[in-house]
Amino acid sequence: MAKTPRRRPGRMIPSLLRSLFRRPATTRYPFVKWEMPDRFRARPVVHTENCIGCKMCVRNCPSGAIQIEDMGEKMFQATIDLGRCLYCGQCAFVCPKKTIELTKDFELAAFDRASLVVVYHAKPKPVEEPAASAQPKAAEPQAPAA
Ligand code: SF4
Ligand code: SF4
Repeated sequence: MAKTPRRRPGRMIPSLLRSLFRRPATTRYPFVKWEMPDRFRARPVVHTENCIGCKMCVRNCPSGAIQIEDMGEKMFQATIDLGRCLYCGQCAFVCPKKTIELTKDFELAAFDRASLVVVYHAKPKPVEEPAASAQPKAAEPQAPAA
């Protein structure tokens, strides 16, 4: 039969004393916010103005969290259910137009599941500025006739 170890309550005192003079390992969250590392993945955001409606994101999402709807006139609306999202980043990885971005916003707590469904409304495509090389050149000054 195994012996019960003797109880020595004073054994923890040195450890307690050392802890008094150490910096705490925790932060005062939510009063002090931690800067998340660059590759941290949290709330996905869809910049719908660049979406071409290919639905690669929908086909590759492992949890069926993202939907794309055609709103006509080459505009697309995205819906993401953050309650189903795994924050894997697969949608952003496969998007050919780099329309989806996984931000560092991890404060996603909500009181009900319905408020976790986020709609990114369709936006018109940005008007492209003509490239500098395509602009007509200013007329060059001509040498006066002799
Ligand atoms: S991050 Fe992953 S789970 Fe979330 S919408 Fe994108 S592909 Fe789906
Ligand atoms: S993969 Fe990108 S471009 Fe294609 S539907 Fe999804 S968000 Fe739009």
